[in-house]
Formats: sequence, C-alpha cells, structure tokens
Amino acid sequence: MTTTLEPCPNFIAGDWTPTNGGGTPVFNPSTGETIAECPVGSVADANAAVEAAHAAFPAWMETPPVERARILGRFKVLVEDHFEDIARCNTREHGKTLVESRGDVKRGMEVIEFALGVPSLLMGDVLENIARGIDCEAIRQPLGVCVGITPFNFPAMVPLWMYPIAIACGNTFVLKPSEKVPLTAIKIAKLLEQAGLPKGVMNIVHGGREVVDALLTHPKVKAISFVGSTPIARYIYETGTKHGKRVQSNGGAKNYVILMPDADVENSTRGVIEAAFGCAGERCMAGSTAVVVGGAEKTLLPTLIEATKRIKVGPTDRETQPDMGAVITSQHRDRVLELIEAGVKEGAKIPADGRGVKVTEAPNGFYVGATILDHVQTGMTVAKEEIFGPVLNVMHMEDLDQAIELANRSFYGNGAAIFTRSGKAAREFKHRVNCGMVGINIGVPASMAWFPFNGWNDSFFGDLHMQGREGVQFFTQQKVTTSRWFSYGEGDIWHTEAKKAHV
Ligand code: NAD
Repeated sequence: MTTTLEPCPNFIAGDWTPTNGGGTPVFNPSTGETIAECPVGSVADANAAVEAAHAAFPAWMETPPVERARILGRFKVLVEDHFEDIARCNTREHGKTLVESRGDVKRGMEVIEFALGVPSLLMGDVLENIARGIDCEAIRQPLGVCVGITPFNFPAMVPLWMYPIAIACGNTFVLKPSEKVPLTAIKIAKLLEQAGLPKGVMNIVHGGREVVDALLTHPKVKAISFVGSTPIARYIYETGTKHGKRVQSNGGAKNYVILMPDADVENSTRGVIEAAFGCAGERCMAGSTAVVVGGAEKTLLPTLIEATKRIKVGPTDRETQPDMGAVITSQHRDRVLELIEAGVKEGAKIPADGRGVKVTEAPNGFYVGATILDHVQTGMTVAKEEIFGPVLNVMHMEDLDQAIELANRSFYGNGAAIFTRSGKAAREFKHRVNCGMVGINIGVPASMAWFPFNGWNDSFFGDLHMQGREGVQFFTQQKVTTSRWFSYGEGDIWHTEAKKAHV
C-alpha cells in the first residue's frame, strides 16, 4: 500500500503555492514511510517571500499593537481548538510520543500567550525635564522583514519561539522550517491565516542551504533567528552579521546532570530518565551526561540502569503509546549507533544496550533503544560530540567541585542540572556552573515563554535570546526623542490661554 503524499506548499503573500515536489523526503519515523516531499526551494522562492513580507510591512507596522494582539488572540484560540490535530501531525512527522508532541505544542502556545501582552511589552520610557523644559522619551519600533530558520526536533515550538513575538511587535516574517518536518509548521500557519492575519505578514518558504543563503544575504531582511546545530548556528551568525543583520542563533548542546549522593532516588531517577530519553534524546536541553558524585554510584546508578532497561520503544502513530519513539531518519539512527559503538571501542561499559532493539509491529521504523554508556572519560568521542539520541553517558566524580569543573570544561552552555537535598550544594552549583539555564531537582530546565531561552558559549551566538523581554528587544529598535517647546509670546496659543487662566 502506498501512502498519499501530503502537500508541502510555500506560503507567499497569502497564497499557498504548490511546489513541484521531488525534494527531500519527509518520513514517518515510526514506520519509515515517506509521507511528503519537502521542496528543495530556490533563490526565486526566497526572494518572492521576502518581497511579500516587505510589501506587507508598512501597513502592519501602522496597525495598532492592540489590534495585532487581537489577531494573535484569535490565533491562540484556533491553536487550542486544533491542539490534538497539531500534536498528531507533529508526532507523525517527528516520531516523538503524543504526550511529548502535546508538550511541544503547549510550549509554543505559551509564546503566543506572552506575545498577547504586546501593548504593555512595547511601552517605552519617558523622563520629563531631562534638562530644564526638555523631555526625553524612548519608544520601540519594529525592524521590518524578519526571518526564522528552524530545526527538526521541535516542529511546533521552535517556530513559535520566533514569529508570534516578531509579528506582535509589528514586523513581517519569513519562516524556513526544517525540511525534515515542514508539515506541522504549515498546519499552524494556516490557523494564523484563519485568524485574519493580513496577507504577506507571515510567509513560509521551504528548502535547504541555497534558500537559507538567499535569506541571509537579502538586503531587505533585517533580522535572522536561527535554531539548529552549532556549526550551522555559527555560520548563520557570521554570515548574517556580515550582511548587516541582527542575528540570534541557537546552537547544539551537551548538558550535564549532577547526581549527588543525598539525592532522592525516586525523583532523581525519574528526572534523569526524562532528561536523557524524553523525545528520544533529540533535545537541545537533553540531560545527556549524568555525573555520579561519590556514593551516588551505589544509591542511584543501579536504579537508573534498571529504569532505562524498562523503557519501551515503539511506534507513536497509533493509540497504544510506547515510552519512547523513533529517531528522525535512518541516517540519524545509524550515526547514533556508530557513536555508541565508538564509545564501547574507546572503553565505556554498556549496562543498558539499545543497539539491537526490535520493534516487530513497525520493523522499518528508525529505532534505537535507550542506552547507558558508563565510565565515559573526557577524551572519548561520545564525551565530545552531541549524540542527539537516546544515549546517556555516565561519568564518575569524587565531589561536587570536580563535577562542576567537568561541566565547565564543555564548550557548550545551554543547561545543567543538579539533584540533591542540600541547599548549600544547589546554591554552589547554581552560582558556579558555566551555562545559561540551571535546573535544581529539575532535569530539563528549559526556560518558559516569559524568560529568555538562555544558551551560553557555543550554544548561542548573538546578544538577545529568544522569548521573553529579550525577544521583544530583539524584534524592535528604540527611538529616542528629545523635545523642547518654545513660547512665541503674544498670539501663541499657550501664551494666550495661560494668561486667561491667571486673570
Ligand atoms: P541543523 O543545523 O542540521 O538544521 C537546522 C536548520 O538549518 C534547518 O532548517 C536546515 O535546513 C538548515 N541548514 C542545515 N544545514 C545548513 C547549511 N549548511 N546552510 C544553511 N542552512 C542549513 O539542525 P537539526 O539537525 O535540524 O536540529 C538539531 C540541532 O539543533 C541539534 O544540534 C540541537 O541541539 C539543536 N537545537 C538547539 C536548540 C537551542 O535552542 N539551542 C533548540 C533545538 C535544537
């Protein structure tokens, strides 16, 4: 039986333009079937999308913030109404479980909720009498055409980190979704159209490097938001800024979870399992290295290994849900397996081995079972590379100082977490760890919409992060006006009125 391919149109100037197909296959990772073909795109498509966004900008900028917020309000209600449908689409093209997909959509919806407050968020500053008779005010105005380039791992949430805030602030937008998961982005954008967004304010153009380069260098593009792997994030930042654009560029990560000997066994096991194997490890906030400190080796590690062995992997596109789904493509599965192999060859132990996992009900899906590599050392390939799969490295340290030093040697800096009952240890860790998002008895400390998604080091290139107030700052530029008004004597309206008032 052949699957009918889902259409994957561009969205330019309010038109859903069918593309010729024949591009990159979009898979259902649970079964290995091709469900769509994402067009490779062209420079002409990118230019058309930018021109449409540029043409829509003047009227959208003049639309009062409260009216822009009302459209986003309708959009939010529509996303709620179609919540389950979006989550299922997300699961079908990504492979994560339905619970995880619902989380993906919910986190994105929260950014819309944040953006609804835009009339307050855009309020500026005023100081009367900055000098005698002189007032000064700073207001925020939009930038113009903004571009978003997104990865495969959060098909709903990551695009929503960007465009609700950009649009609320009065910008127009061109989204280039991941060619591996374009369908959820399309589904959500259709709701924005239904909510009454004027044509050309939001545009979608599909493709790969050629399209990205055209967007990065287009003179009418003012700002670029990127999320993806570190080498591409660096390239986007360097190329975008060289062409005079404002850029926020999120890269990859390798996040450490410190397990102290006093940590609560049940809660920390649950926290680490969720951090390492949630979304099959395909998360930039995955807790991919557990650092077992002192006696935690005896109290926690055996429970963690047993819990890992119990994780059931399987297809997520049906009613009975497994604990964990497939990874995104067969190539990615093979790369994860190669990395596990390298870890074993370089001396790691493998107390939970997901290499030979069999999923009989979906034999062509892209599965890797939950895996633990124990006694990983800093020089090993698995300690250096972002695996982005269901693999937990375990490293052993004598005390908290050593654990913090280890985490701080990483050139990434997205997140780090500690599980402990000690306030002192938690405080010390929070203060000294060299990364932007810290979890205390929370395995995945990903910031929510009201706070910046706060990578440091090689996990982020730029100055202003996505989400929260930094998101508003990124998508606006300040204008500072200093004003003085003179009185022109007899005949001046102020002079006459003032005189009347004093008689
Ligand atoms: P990726 O870097 O391969 O692709 C991201 C985007 O860049 C896609 O839209 C892709 O089409 C485009 N792209 C790929 N190669 C390109 C090139 N040579 N030139 C121009 N554009 C190119 O990332 P991915 O595999 O889709 O996503 C996984 C990565 O994203 C992981 O490294 C993960 O850690 C990272 N990520 C980071 C965050 C964060 O906030 N820090 C969040 C989610 C994912």
